[in-house]
Amino acid sequence: METTVVDTVIKNGKIVTPYQVVEAGIAVDNGKIVNIAKSPSLPKAEKTIDAEGKLLLPGVIDAHPHIFDPDYTYREDFATGTTAAAAGGITTIIDMPLRKPVFSSLIREKIRVGEKNSLIDFSFHSGMMANENITEIPAVVKLGVKSFKVFTCAPFKVEDETLVKVMKTVAKYSGVLVVHAESEDVVYEGTNKLKEQGRKDPMAYVESRPDAAEHKAVNKVITLAKQFDIHIHIAHMTTRQGVELLDRAKASRQKVTAETCPHYLIFTKNDIKKLGPYLKMTPPLRSKNDVLFLWQGLKLGIIDIVATDHAPGTREEKEVGWKDIWRAPGGIPGVETLLPLMISEGVNRGLISLQDLCRMLCERPAKIFHLYPRKGVLQLGSDADIVIIDPEKKTVISADKLHYKVGWTPYEGMKLKGYPILTMVRGKVIASHGEIGERPGHGKFIEMMS
Ligand SMILES: [Zn+2]
Repeated sequence: METTVVDTVIKNGKIVTPYQVVEAGIAVDNGKIVNIAKSPSLPKAEKTIDAEGKLLLPGVIDAHPHIFDPDYTYREDFATGTTAAAAGGITTIIDMPLRKPVFSSLIREKIRVGEKNSLIDFSFHSGMMANENITEIPAVVKLGVKSFKVFTCAPFKVEDETLVKVMKTVAKYSGVLVVHAESEDVVYEGTNKLKEQGRKDPMAYVESRPDAAEHKAVNKVITLAKQFDIHIHIAHMTTRQGVELLDRAKASRQKVTAETCPHYLIFTKNDIKKLGPYLKMTPPLRSKNDVLFLWQGLKLGIIDIVATDHAPGTREEKEVGWKDIWRAPGGIPGVETLLPLMISEGVNRGLISLQDLCRMLCERPAKIFHLYPRKGVLQLGSDADIVIIDPEKKTVISADKLHYKVGWTPYEGMKLKGYPILTMVRGKVIASHGEIGERPGHGKFIEMMS
């Protein structure tokens, strides 16, 4: 009788699922998971990795990083951004457009650049949606991208009439509409008032975009979407009011999901006094009370996922904001610290369980963005995207040890316990104890399925 020898076996692990933590190992062949069992029942393998009782999590999916490739690569490119992501346990990113619209021709270009330079798998959101590019939707869907981004505020604000048209069309193609939800009226008024007063300090930026901006926009979007069978995903939600609106919409069975980001779970607006322009991001930081509501919303599943909104600016770009906060770009680096922060600040503090962690970083993003069950789950036939986490490993965050091109992190000096020590993408070890194993180009474009 012939015995099959698979590529790799990871033995002695504790597999984390959204429902339980089970002691088992995983066999991998041709980039796929082919067996999950306790050690004696696992097949023979060319290579065996002993997890030594540590945690095995499906590779993390970051549904909201801005990689800036092929534009603005002085801030981050596919190679640097995905190296940082891999070292932090992320195995798939869904790159978000930021400074310019992304439709079929640019998606094709991004796929080309990504397949050459990305270490991990990737997909894209299309956008920004506007009246003149609704006709682009079918071509984008044909490429395997079913997520579209729209803004309710500058710099890509759409009128309600257009928003309705976009909703109808995206619904027709069973896509998901990602909304940057801040009310233009509220933000415009707030910003003008503070500028007229001559305010240029970092806190002026926070004050210019109050909670009411999010409340008004989320409320409007949910109300408009009610008329159509459209899946709306609220990007980077930050407030108690947002959580309450989402709770109500979900209770009435509306197809709406939401995300928040690590920085809204860790910092409050007072931190901008110390870190100034380095904590300028959109939407801005909120109060301690909002932070508590966001954690609770996550625990209860009202907020579905945590994504990074990774959008680094250089130190030089940020520094000008000390004198004039309006002139500094918004955004912070975040892909490498997403998982470690959620373990340390969430799981270790008892705010979420390991099962919750798996749900919000792996299963839900895969399901929301049509990548499930190829991604986001450890089961037979899924891609072998696996992270080994050492729950006892202690680290102090230091930009010197991270892989960002910009060389800074707002979490500098934070003490962590629990860290990813191995990242595997489709059966290949991409990062091990911070060392990068594969060359750029291992990453593949992953189509969103129907
Ligand atoms: Zn963003």
